[in-house]
Amino acid sequence: MKKILPTSTVGSLPKPAWLATPEKLWSPWQLKGDKLIEGKQDALRVSLQEQQLAGIDIISDGEQTRQHFVTTFIEHLSGVDFENRKTVKIRNRYDASVPVVVNAVARKKAVFVNDAKFLRKQTDKPIKWALPGPMTMVDTLYDNHYKSREKLAWEFAKVLNEEARELQDAGVDIIQFDEPAFNVFFDDVNDWGMAALERAIEGLNCETALHICYGYGIKANNDWKKTLGAEWRQYEAIFPKIQKSNIDVVSLECHNSCVPLDLIELIRGKKIMVGAIDVATSRIETPEEVANTLRKVLKFVDVENLYPSTNCGMAPLSRNIANSKLSALSAGTEILRKELGL
Ligand SMILES: [Zn+2]
Repeated sequence: MKKILPTSTVGSLPKPAWLATPEKLWSPWQLKGDKLIEGKQDALRVSLQEQQLAGIDIISDGEQTRQHFVTTFIEHLSGVDFENRKTVKIRNRYDASVPVVVNAVARKKAVFVNDAKFLRKQTDKPIKWALPGPMTMVDTLYDNHYKSREKLAWEFAKVLNEEARELQDAGVDIIQFDEPAFNVFFDDVNDWGMAALERAIEGLNCETALHICYGYGIKANNDWKKTLGAEWRQYEAIFPKIQKSNIDVVSLECHNSCVPLDLIELIRGKKIMVGAIDVATSRIETPEEVANTLRKVLKFVDVENLYPSTNCGMAPLSRNIANSKLSALSAGTEILRKELGL
């Protein structure tokens, strides 16, 4: 990235009400067939426009073309039954009705590549595309075929790699893998989770990012956070493994969180997408608050490696609030740029 302190969002942004019911996860589409394809493209245009107006430097698709960050990808794979669903506990936290793996999984066709090509045509700015990580995918369905989380993660890593290579060829500058499950299953991360992710990024020349958060601002996640105590040291268990990996960028929850920021020292040298916007509250951060969080993290990240961002996706928020938060992110970053004479 040429620009110093380039701003970005983690991923999802609210969708327009004509495309999907707002402020809701897994919200059903309001359109069908060709109208849905056109509607998704229009939403991508709007999302791009809003990010640009807010001064965001690295543009994302705002996940306008997917219903959910994990299930939409899985829907495009063969070997998964979406009709006869089962209820599982996601990240040991909340029940969800999920699809079932009934056969060998394979990616018959590209999932997001056409959407990425569409977004690429609309802007010259760097673009970032998010995919689910293999471990989080495993945690978001019921496996009746492989009977091994590790084996299934490995298969997902292979299909993710196919998709990632095509996204790179479509002109995506940063491919991000969302792994909220990394914050829960530390032993698995160290045993096979990180290895599976390395398989997913194999052979890529574009930048690769890993997003590990404490989840969307939904009740189940907010309740879970209350049980984590005064210091959230989850990152400590997995950072040494991440430090040794080929991942270029690590996206972390830093604003209003109880993560001791000195833990970031453990991954010094990596680029850090610093979450300076809290997605679990509708309150808009002031630019000074954003600058403050960035300043604190600067003790542990070299300035050329700091990417100001949000803690997580903003899909469950209203559009106005999300846009105001994006503007606050840009304004706060600008304060810091001036302060550092950049
Ligand atoms: Zn997240």
